[in-house]
Amino acid sequence: MNKRRSRIVIIIFLVCLVAVFYLSVVARGRVKVDSGYRVVMGTFARVVAVAKNSNKARNSIQAAFAEIEKVDELMSDYKSDSEISQINRDGFKRAVEVSESTYEVLRKSIEFSKLTGGAFDITVGPLVDLLRSAEKKGLAASEEETAQAKLKVGFEKLQLDGENRTVKFAVDGMRLDLGGIAKGYAIDKAVEAMQKCGASGAMVDIGGDIRCFGTPPKGRDHWLIGVQDPNVADDDIGTGQLLSTLKLTNAAVATSGGYRRFVLIDGKKYSHIIDTNRGSSASELASVTIISKDAISADALATAVSVMGSERGLALIEKTLETEAVSISSKPEFKLIKTSGAERYTK
Ligand code: AMP
Ligand code: MG
Repeated sequence: MNKRRSRIVIIIFLVCLVAVFYLSVVARGRVKVDSGYRVVMGTFARVVAVAKNSNKARNSIQAAFAEIEKVDELMSDYKSDSEISQINRDGFKRAVEVSESTYEVLRKSIEFSKLTGGAFDITVGPLVDLLRSAEKKGLAASEEETAQAKLKVGFEKLQLDGENRTVKFAVDGMRLDLGGIAKGYAIDKAVEAMQKCGASGAMVDIGGDIRCFGTPPKGRDHWLIGVQDPNVADDDIGTGQLLSTLKLTNAAVATSGGYRRFVLIDGKKYSHIIDTNRGSSASELASVTIISKDAISADALATAVSVMGSERGLALIEKTLETEAVSISSKPEFKLIKTSGAERYTK
């Protein structure tokens, strides 16, 4: 009996020892700080940091937002003094010199254009403008107007000079629009800054495009990311229910689709994503979610697959390394199609 009691005492002692060790070494080294939602890049952004102490976590959040603001200052086409606005004003008259960051995004954009057979194309600006003015007039663009705008669109008309880091337009009236890729780039830069600040884990969310690294606190070994259901969100934007929850570690996810942002012209919805080949809004898919290693790829490919449609788009993702897709076709079917490896990310 006595022997048994002392064995129990030893076991309790060992359990306490393990608990104290866990609390002092593991848990103490994992403080979580949540920035809450802030308005940046014309949308809501949130950063969650995990670090050894709250100071480190807060510093890394500050560094993340500083990077995001920097990208917005350089690449927004709404800000008249951004580098992109400068290119849009002067790009036909002269070769415009840009920062390393802007040049990198332009170079990567061309890579994605080539990879997607032109489905992803940042020279889409004149067609985006046409859609906006059609919305104001309440009248869809005519064939003639579309044909005229198309003459000013095409990634092969964008001339990049890596040596001098300059950009030039081959055709007058061209306009760049980085709306399909800048958020992804900003997320990657934010993650890089947080890692430099010593965060051991983080989640960076800009408008629903997300990248995470490390592990969240509370002993979970992955981050849980919700993907909105377009079927519900269709009539109730922003408050839609979740279609699925993804579990991610060291990965990025981006969702594109007509259900999220569209314009209404004469009672009809037109997606803000444009097929530059036809010159009109992409309509086959209600939503495309891409899971990839980095956010710039997830962002650009989600936009591209929205244009390419499920057959061509998912075939491309299927053969792209470490990249998966979940797409939902438009009304009325709302058919769910996934690449073969997507299942392992779903909860
Ligand atoms: P996302 O929400 O990432 O799919 O980006 C959509 C935004 O990208 C649009 O609002 C446009 O500013 C821009 N865009 C539209 N069509 C294209 C396209 N075919 N390729 C690249 N960017 C596009
Ligand atoms: Mg995108």
